[in-house]
Amino acid sequence: MNFDHSDKVRGLIDKLEAFMAEHVYPIEHEFHAWNNDPANLWKRWPGIEPIKAKARAAGLWNLFLPHEYGEFSPGLTNLEYAPLAEIMGRSPHASEFFNCSAPDTGNMEVLAKFGSPEQQKRWLKPLLAGEIRSVYLMTEPAVASSDATNVSTSIVRDGDDYVINGVKWWISGIMDPNAELLIVMGKSNPDGPRHQQHSTIIVPRNTPGVRVVRTMRVFSNANSPGGEAEVALENVRVPASNLILGEGRGFEIAQGRLGPGRIHHCMRSIGQAQRSLEAMAKRADSRVAFGKKLSEQGSIRQDVARSFCEIEMARLLTLKAADAMDKYGNKVAADLIAAIKVVAPQMAQTVADRAIQVHGGMGVCEDTSVAEAFTLNRYLRIADGPDEVHMNQLGRLKIKQYTQA
Ligand SMILES: Cc1cc2nc3c(=O)[nH]c(=O)nc-3n(C[C@H](O)[C@H](O)[C@H](O)COP(=O)(O)OP(=O)(O)OC[C@H]3O[C@@H](n4cnc5c(N)ncnc54)[C@H](O)[C@@H]3O)c2cc1C
Repeated sequence: MNFDHSDKVRGLIDKLEAFMAEHVYPIEHEFHAWNNDPANLWKRWPGIEPIKAKARAAGLWNLFLPHEYGEFSPGLTNLEYAPLAEIMGRSPHASEFFNCSAPDTGNMEVLAKFGSPEQQKRWLKPLLAGEIRSVYLMTEPAVASSDATNVSTSIVRDGDDYVINGVKWWISGIMDPNAELLIVMGKSNPDGPRHQQHSTIIVPRNTPGVRVVRTMRVFSNANSPGGEAEVALENVRVPASNLILGEGRGFEIAQGRLGPGRIHHCMRSIGQAQRSLEAMAKRADSRVAFGKKLSEQGSIRQDVARSFCEIEMARLLTLKAADAMDKYGNKVAADLIAAIKVVAPQMAQTVADRAIQVHGGMGVCEDTSVAEAFTLNRYLRIADGPDEVHMNQLGRLKIKQYTQA
């Protein structure tokens, strides 16, 4: 493995770091203050679009979309994208400025990979242009959704249409005024083999029968303007041409969607951990307690050292997974993707926890990024599949590999 960045990637890293310093870090407090003001609930901060326009003009746009998507992609491999996602991840909301944020990235990959030319024209083009946002509806309150085969929202053919009924929850981004596209996974072929019972279908947000039952807070945070919500789909009728790929292919699409999405989350988690570590070191070096700088205490030095080791390990594992995805495809890289999905958020949560402790009271409020890094990585250990599910898959794969060897 070559550990040096190519000239192209080095150039993008420099450009992105300069952009973050000029346009992103300075607005973080204003952005948070706006989002946390109840008067602005579910409204978009007016500064988002001007920053997006600048990022696009700078060529820092859609960098996530792998090179195999030809005309749609800026041409980076997963390995090349990793250090860029890490830099964006340092500021948890920054990815949207570069049109690189979940759940849009996964949805764009689904449409680029599996969408019909008409679906791509209608939905992928405006998503790639950052004109609209999208959401992904899989999880349901009534079933253990970490096992996606349990998903039971019905998708029933009726003439030239499909009719959808069910209840989803934890749907990220649904409250964003720009969210126009819903990608829904449901059960269309209940009598088929277990992994061919589900389909994925496009539902425009304004379709009659789509109803937000309630919004849901994450650790008391509304996550405005995107938010999370419980959503009822009541006799939602869409044309049959809205089905993606074909009946019974939903599981295949979900797996294809979540692989790259997971590694992007991990790359960003590493950025959050790195920033937490830097904040921890700076704070420790600027505070004196009991006649000594905190940075001179052995226990604090150990926290810094341990965090450095853990970040480096997670970063290398993530790069290895990205490299394997590029060389051998997501299916062959499934073991490494599962491994980083378990390692990276846990690591970032632990590093953020240490950083909180070193900051004292300041660590739990919004004055630094460490409190958000902690909560974000805590829920990432559930979202996109809980740790145990990835461990289970990884253990199964490794037992098979070693017993067959
Ligand atoms: C902030 C946030 C945002 C989200 N955004 C979205 C979204 O946009 N769209 C969407 O569709 N979903 C979204 N989700 C949902 C998320 O993907 C699910 O919560 C997750 O897949 C787990 O499903 P579940 O909640 O039904 O948990 P369950 O399936 O009920 O599992 C509960 C727990 O059981 C344990 N468990 C499960 N399987 C095993 C096993 N094999 N071995 C041991 N223990 C096990 C795990 O500890 C797990 O956490 C989001 C969730 C959160 C918290």
